[in-house]
Amino acid sequence: MKEEGFLIGFLSIVFSVAVLSAQQPATAPPEAEVPADAAVRTLVGHLSLERYKATVKGLTRFGDRRQGTDRNRAAIDWIEAQLKAYGCTNTERFQYDYQPPPTPAGGRAGAGRGGRGRGGNAPRGFTGPTGVNNDPLRQPDVKLRELNMQPSVPGLREQVYCTKVGTTRPGEMYILGGHMDGIGYGEAANDDGSGTAIVMELARVFHLPNIQTERSIRFILWNNEESGLDGSRAYVEQRKARQGMEDPPGSGRFPEPRWLGMIQHDMMMFDHGMPRPDRTVSPEQRPEADVNIEFAGGSKMASEAQALAWLFREANERYATDYPAAVGNRMQNTDSVPFQDEVAAISLRENERRAQIGAGWNPHWHQPTDVFATFSDKDFRLGLNAAQTTLAAIAQLAGATITP
Ligand SMILES: [Zn+2]
Repeated sequence: MKEEGFLIGFLSIVFSVAVLSAQQPATAPPEAEVPADAAVRTLVGHLSLERYKATVKGLTRFGDRRQGTDRNRAAIDWIEAQLKAYGCTNTERFQYDYQPPPTPAGGRAGAGRGGRGRGGNAPRGFTGPTGVNNDPLRQPDVKLRELNMQPSVPGLREQVYCTKVGTTRPGEMYILGGHMDGIGYGEAANDDGSGTAIVMELARVFHLPNIQTERSIRFILWNNEESGLDGSRAYVEQRKARQGMEDPPGSGRFPEPRWLGMIQHDMMMFDHGMPRPDRTVSPEQRPEADVNIEFAGGSKMASEAQALAWLFREANERYATDYPAAVGNRMQNTDSVPFQDEVAAISLRENERRAQIGAGWNPHWHQPTDVFATFSDKDFRLGLNAAQTTLAAIAQLAGATITP
């Protein structure tokens, strides 16, 4: 059973790479279009460290953006305004109801989610502390502490998305996601301002003048990830049966194009290595930092997801400027999980979620120190390289072209 899975996976990779290569034209391309490789390079060239940092900075103005608060709703309004300003003007709000599960007697809500050693073996090497800060008074910045004071109230929730409509296959799409909500009473700069900023930056680049894609691309900023993937789960439940339906019939409009892949970006900046024997972590980004691309090895779509993950690594090798990518099979605890049995789903992260983040490799995770000022340009650059990776992969998969 296992070997079979690997063989199918391997064949899918060969197939995908062949498709990828076939998109690099060997002969002169049609004169109206820039050749694929040059087009990808041009698109990637529209990303910059300064723009990426500015988008993360913009998100941190809303504190930790905890779901069910005014600061969370204000952040959604700002994200929507930005998407429209980038030319992704068909923004929509997805609505759902969120009621938190009852707090278990003697326990704390939200504590211990995805703790160390979850899903199998004990972590290797040295580990550091993990946990969620649930005390707003631990934020030393008084202004930020006040901004984060309002508690979450159950009820109606929204999450915003916009869609680049494909020219020849509008009824098929890739979904690019990040979660805009955070916890911990900081600024949620890394978790997940860093992933949200990637999705927003890609929405901007794909909507620059003269750029078309054959297939559609949806840019979505999930809410309620930190409470248990509730926003993405609601989306899958409400929308999976509506994929590919033309509505109204004959209109050429596909409110929910058929899903071709779901790519999540969650915590993209901090890869300072394993904790030291005293459980502290190096203050410097490690030079061998990488982007971790994970798929769920036990999911129904594992073969397809694995092929997608390797295709992303290939895109990283060809088009990312500084940091490499690694592939792993333990995707978990993020918004790609509700999709994993429906479509090829992968997550991009600064570290592997289970073996590394779960073992305390990021001391700012869900802490008051997850603020913009904590991170250096080397950290932001890892996020930029993840953006380059996804942009290059999706430009090829969605069939991006540039009209001179
Ligand atoms: Zn996250």
